[in-house]
Amino acid sequence: MKITEVLGFQILDSRGRPSVAARVTLEDGSSHIARVPSGASTGTHEALELRDRGARYEENFYRGASVFGAVTNINEIIAPKITSLPPSYGDIDQILNELDPTSNHRNLGANTKLAVSLAIAKAEAHSKNLSLARMLFGEGELIIPMPMVNILSGGAHANRSLDIQDVLIIPRGANSFTQSISWIASIREIAARKGHDLGQVTHLVADEGGLGMKFPSIATACEFVISCIADSGLRPGVDVSLALDFASTQYFEAEKYNLKSEGRNLDKESYINYVASLVNNLPIISIEDPFAEDDWGSWQNFRELAPSELQILGDDLFTTNLERLERGISSNSANAILIKVNQNGLVSGTEEVLKRAQKSGFRTVVSARSGETEDSWLADLAIGWRANQIKVGSTHGSERSAKWNRLLEFEATEKTIFAKPYG
Ligand code: PGA
Ligand code: ZN
Repeated sequence: MKITEVLGFQILDSRGRPSVAARVTLEDGSSHIARVPSGASTGTHEALELRDRGARYEENFYRGASVFGAVTNINEIIAPKITSLPPSYGDIDQILNELDPTSNHRNLGANTKLAVSLAIAKAEAHSKNLSLARMLFGEGELIIPMPMVNILSGGAHANRSLDIQDVLIIPRGANSFTQSISWIASIREIAARKGHDLGQVTHLVADEGGLGMKFPSIATACEFVISCIADSGLRPGVDVSLALDFASTQYFEAEKYNLKSEGRNLDKESYINYVASLVNNLPIISIEDPFAEDDWGSWQNFRELAPSELQILGDDLFTTNLERLERGISSNSANAILIKVNQNGLVSGTEEVLKRAQKSGFRTVVSARSGETEDSWLADLAIGWRANQIKVGSTHGSERSAKWNRLLEFEATEKTIFAKPYG
């Protein structure tokens, strides 16, 4: 089956900002749309997201954030090269790289290339009469990933009501994804009610669907979530544990970690000890970006004193980039990688990073962005690539539920196993 048309267009993401979509039509008349997400706490080393900075009339309304240039690149440069070819994301990604061989996709834009790459992957799955998840997974019982879900939001997603970006929960003791979601929904509701009663809620729904709440410290925020877990009748640390996304690059200033709401501006050594005391005293099983994106030394020093079972997850550190991952593996800086397709810019490029991580014994967490869309391909990628963990934000907002609902659909309609990476 061949591609008969490729069309790009501008859409809005969950924050109301422009993003890129691509539609691929096949000979059988079917069409396959992919929509690209966008981050807010973006790492310096991410692939380049192309946004307009020109003078087109409509651009003014989006203050330079529109993506008409990216859309034009799809319609005028990419479409003529790939129309009439078979939909194979491996082959088409190669053509996209020939059209723009830069490592960060700056000529055509990572958002431009990714929209096409994803739409082609969806079209390819259709041409094989398979779901995207099944096409990537192969035969056997599908493995549904363990969710990591945002309860409290801070940082860039909730006007810095907390220095760190998220306090999340991991339903490590759940026996199915369906059970996980019921636990999470209950804890999220309890947190909203308790937060409201305490008068501490500043954002009822932050960018990723978490609650924005004011706390005097990271530890008190964690204790609040622990109390919500206990109130739901579940055992903190046994049924449900905590995860933190520090997004610390955002508060790393002049070689110090400046926790403003805590009134602590810590040098690297004191801050490493501070992070260690948090994980030693609270039921935290995963920490993301505890150190800044280029502070490799602190990542390495922390690993030496961290509990071996702690998941140390690099997001801005790795930006789903093969070279940075290789550096992380050889320098022993982390033991897990966050996988975001738009940090990389291509489906095949992202897959290569994920497979390399898995081969080296790293855990992999496939992740959404703070600016999301109604698409659910992320759930298919997480299953298809056997990522074992998925991070989508909270359970509020259809752009988040679309991914959870897709996982629920797989669990309800296929033979599945629930991944239990924490035993
Ligand atoms: P972002 O945040 O999409 O705004 O980068 C998500 C994350 O840091 O994990
Ligand atoms: Zn992150």
